[in-house]
Amino acid sequence: MEYQVLARKYRPQRFADVAGQDHVTRTLLNALEQNRVAHGYIFSGHRGIGKTTIARILAQALNCRNAVGSPERPTPEPCGICDSCSEVRSGNAVDVIEIDAATNRGIDEIRELRDAARYAPARDRYKVYILDEAHQITDAAFNALLKTLEEPPSHVIFMMATTEPENIPQTIRSRCQHFSFHAVKFDDILTQLRMIATQEQVEAEDAALALLAEAGDGSMRDALSIMDQAIASAPVENGRPVLSAAQIRELMGSVPNAVFERLLEAVAQGQSAELMDRLSILLNAGHSPSSLARQMVRYLRNALMAKIGGEQTELLQISADERARATRTAMLFSEEDITRNLQIVLRTFDDLNYRQEQRFHLELGLLKLIHAQRLLPLEEFLSCVAAGAGTGARATASAPPVRPAAPAAGPRASAPAPAAKPAAPSSSPFASSSNWSNPSAPRQTSAVAEPKAEKTVEIKSHAHKVTPFPVASSQPAAGFAETATEGALAKAPEPENQTAAPSSAALDATAIQRASCMALAAAGHDSASQLLSTAHWQLDGASLRIEVAGMGKKMLALTVNADAEKIIRQELQKLGAPTRFMVVPGAGSAPAAASAAVTIPAGSVQQAALEYPLVQKAKDIFQAEVRSVLDLRSK
Ligand SMILES: [Zn+2]
Repeated sequence: MEYQVLARKYRPQRFADVAGQDHVTRTLLNALEQNRVAHGYIFSGHRGIGKTTIARILAQALNCRNAVGSPERPTPEPCGICDSCSEVRSGNAVDVIEIDAATNRGIDEIRELRDAARYAPARDRYKVYILDEAHQITDAAFNALLKTLEEPPSHVIFMMATTEPENIPQTIRSRCQHFSFHAVKFDDILTQLRMIATQEQVEAEDAALALLAEAGDGSMRDALSIMDQAIASAPVENGRPVLSAAQIRELMGSVPNAVFERLLEAVAQGQSAELMDRLSILLNAGHSPSSLARQMVRYLRNALMAKIGGEQTELLQISADERARATRTAMLFSEEDITRNLQIVLRTFDDLNYRQEQRFHLELGLLKLIHAQRLLPLEEFLSCVAAGAGTGARATASAPPVRPAAPAAGPRASAPAPAAKPAAPSSSPFASSSNWSNPSAPRQTSAVAEPKAEKTVEIKSHAHKVTPFPVASSQPAAGFAETATEGALAKAPEPENQTAAPSSAALDATAIQRASCMALAAAGHDSASQLLSTAHWQLDGASLRIEVAGMGKKMLALTVNADAEKIIRQELQKLGAPTRFMVVPGAGSAPAAASAAVTIPAGSVQQAALEYPLVQKAKDIFQAEVRSVLDLRSK
């Protein structure tokens, strides 16, 4: 017997057997039951999802010789055994005419069709025309068909299957019932493949079938075509073909997704060498850069969907294992990270198509993933520092100003503190000051000391909005105020008051620090300026040592970059100070006081607030302890 491809052999013969198009089959069955059959149908959707199949089943049902409700045909489904049904099935029914519109698209063919349609069916109830690839029909030909569709003879039914319904003229579309087919779901394809594997006596790993279903990408026919190939190339054991995942990957030239998971782990950890090693192994194994990039795009897309919609999202049409994998990868990155990675790999994939050195391009593309990732902490850092220095218009806007305006007096202005309660722990406790980078803008800083150890530090923005936050210090009240003021003054471009310098060496260092920070701010290096204004500057013989607490070497190098270093060096030259200096990470300087520490249950909102980087930063800047954290939502 002649070999029949799986897609044809297992083509559904009943509406109920069509996978994934319930919305279509239900409507058609109802229409058949109620005898409300239209004279024109458009079935649209992706290739290989059952458009022509459903057209044929509908044709069978319309022309079935057994009446609905008879013992042979209890439902509107075609009986499948009468002459008419079996003729349609074998493709030689006289009254069901299938036309490939891709090749019979001209006006002559359609005129012929139109003229033939006038005559009554040879034997059956309806003359059914199934036009495949209907969008290929020319406009003139469609016009010739229009009249027939406007006033169709009662025995004629047109069914148009198309992947591009938008290319069918509106005049035609408005005279037809339009059914839009869905991509077949992964699970539906998998179920069908399992059934076929059993029927065909194929020994198939579930992972192998899942790969086939995934490769189908919403098209049952595509999945079945690949399955045909896979079975043909499969090794035979005990007379049965054996499908394994590895064999199917080889057939499709794809690599396991575990590889991409590992590549992205290397990206997440910033391990360039590891990333390049793994890529090199893949390329040396003969995988093409373009195919790798394409698969990586798919993998990242799935990771992104997992990030957005969670592991069980409908957006993921993949096996449970792959869902879990995509979710694991999603956990490594933020949504923005994955989006950007996807964008980079997509662009790399595009580029690969017209590049000579594909390998280098792919390598470059993957390295970009790591470098792009390094950019993000810097962004975060910038906003963090900006907020830490008393900025963040958002925070100010959302937090109610407890004190209407800070006294315009110097930094030591002391006033009876109001009942200091945290304004809103959920928002940034820092007030806004976007003028920080602008030395000429007015800027006021005040620290208010309270008789008790609890103090309110206010940093006033040019918008005159103030957000207080309480800080409990382990140091005596005066000591704290001094510390805070000193820090603020060092930062301020034009300080109104200065604290007395403790020693001449410290004064020099302080002066150098102030001048350098101002020069940095003036040159637009706001983050470096703010960072260094809170650093510990120390003249050490012929060199200057700048210790920055709470920041790693890498981040430090990113913030105080070569440009910033150049500006500092120029400033040092101007001041006649030693031009040798180094910026190094220093140890955290805030001494902890066990008695003042808050006891907060682990995993609570308070704990999360305490661990929030901004809060940590604030603690560092003001050398403070957090005494209480209020959750305003619980009120
Ligand atoms: Zn029948």
